[in-house]
Amino acid sequence: DLRKSMAHTFLFEASDRDTRQWLEEENSHLPHSQFGEEFHVYYQPLVSLQSGKIAGFEALVRWQHPERGFVSPEEFIPVAERTGLILPLGMWILREACRQTRLWKTQFGQNAPSIVSVNLSGKQFVQPDLVAQIDRILQQTHLDPRSLKLEITEGVVMENVDRTIDTLRNMKALKIKLGIDDFGTGYSSFSYLSQFPTDTLKIDRTFISCMEERPENRAIVQTIVMLAHTLGMDAIVEGVETREQWQQLREIGCEYGQGYFFSKPLSSREATALLASKPRW
Ligand code: C2E
Ligand code: CA
Ligand code: CA
Ligand code: CA
Repeated sequence: DLRKSMAHTFLFEASDRDTRQWLEEENSHLPHSQFGEEFHVYYQPLVSLQSGKIAGFEALVRWQHPERGFVSPEEFIPVAERTGLILPLGMWILREACRQTRLWKTQFGQNAPSIVSVNLSGKQFVQPDLVAQIDRILQQTHLDPRSLKLEITEGVVMENVDRTIDTLRNMKALKIKLGIDDFGTGYSSFSYLSQFPTDTLKIDRTFISCMEERPENRAIVQTIVMLAHTLGMDAIVEGVETREQWQQLREIGCEYGQGYFFSKPLSSREATALLASKPRW
């Protein structure tokens, strides 16, 4: 049902390659066409835990369906992956996030967020022309590649390690940043982890939520932060909801955090207003 509704929304079926390509081209010239009507990219601040300042944003897609209302990405991303619709949608999200980040650069200069972090689904990750497509979007939006980070979940990077290393290296050649997402929820082989050219490790929020009640969880978080540092990566935590958690995570030496304590995901307009207010938590 959701699948049908998505296909209807996009006015095409996933198998129709020409339409898909057309839509891609179309969207590259008209940023607000088609997807932009119902889909929106929201931005959640990534905060430096030391300084309390915004270091960047994570781009998170939102779907406002005309009849169903708000549909959660937890619900529609898996459907989009199964149907292949994630490919054009994912590229639209990436382009939109790059476009907005470039806009902030012009608007805020030195005070612009230095990173936008975009989620990449497993299906996108294995596309043979992925790196070329990312490169094209960077060219089209004139965004400095060093301002873009792609988040790939632990589950996806561990699926086929040899291919992963290849793909990550090709991405790295574009000078973009790479982050492992939802760390701790899958099965990582530490020997492989050290071979990935990734910049950050993001600790899943399940470890943070009960950190105060259960000392084991604090120890686990501390261990993952140390692991990240040993591998030459910065650590990020998601799901920071209280000041106490922020304090603890800062003591542990975790570099960045995101969560409702700092801010929920914001529309581009709200995020722009937030940036203009030069927030410091
Ligand atoms: P994720 O990548 O792990 O994103 C973090 C999720 O945690 C977001 O949910 C965010 O709103 C939520 N969150 C942030 N801070 C807090 C907090 O303090 N407490 C709690 N309880 N939650 C917090 P969201 O936006 O609903 O997205 C859910 C998942 O859907 C994402 O998990 C990601 O896997 C997927 N997703 C979202 N946007 C995209 C996208 O643009 N592309 C792809 N491929 N996947 C996306
Ligand atoms: Ca993420
Ligand atoms: Ca995550
Ligand atoms: Ca998650």
